[in-house]
Amino acid sequence: MNIVSAGTGVGIHLQRGERLRVIDPEGGQSGDLLIASRDGRERLSNGRTFDYGGKIYVSTGDVLWSDRSNALATIVQDDVGKHDFLYSPCSLEMYRIQYGVTGYHANCNDNLRSAMRDLGIELDFMPTPLNIFMNVAVAPDGRLSFGPPKSRAGDAIVLRAEMDLAIALTACPASTCNGGAPARPLAYEVPKG
Ligand SMILES: [Zn+2]
Repeated sequence: MNIVSAGTGVGIHLQRGERLRVIDPEGGQSGDLLIASRDGRERLSNGRTFDYGGKIYVSTGDVLWSDRSNALATIVQDDVGKHDFLYSPCSLEMYRIQYGVTGYHANCNDNLRSAMRDLGIELDFMPTPLNIFMNVAVAPDGRLSFGPPKSRAGDAIVLRAEMDLAIALTACPASTCNGGAPARPLAYEVPKG
């Protein structure tokens, strides 16, 4: 099992047919998962995924679609059942505007960009990542609210690659989407066979 330290990110290559298992080792921790084709020309699209799946939450059996309307990955196992796909990754600007942070703050936007750069992909814009284990509720009037992540220690989500992929995975440093707790690590593995 590979650890993604709290508040950091990693880049992962996945071949078509391989699976990526993302684990919450301690429970209650959310992260961002950004998927692109191996050459970076197709990126994850929450809008296409909402459109073709007909819902805003994704879980087992759901396909994650690209901005060119190709299937990037399918969720084949999910212990948690709810992953948000509405929010942009936390960024330096978000910490400044919403929380008055001055100076540098670790953020998923920079970590996703850097992880993709490690895989040879320079993002000219930031797609909306899948916010794994993030527990967002949408009220009937459209208002959004965060609950603590529902993931318990050891819970996982497993994706199967539908093409060769470049993936960036972060363990989010924002306490607001992590039940108010300090950031913890996430982990991943690419199971063989
Ligand atoms: Zn974040």
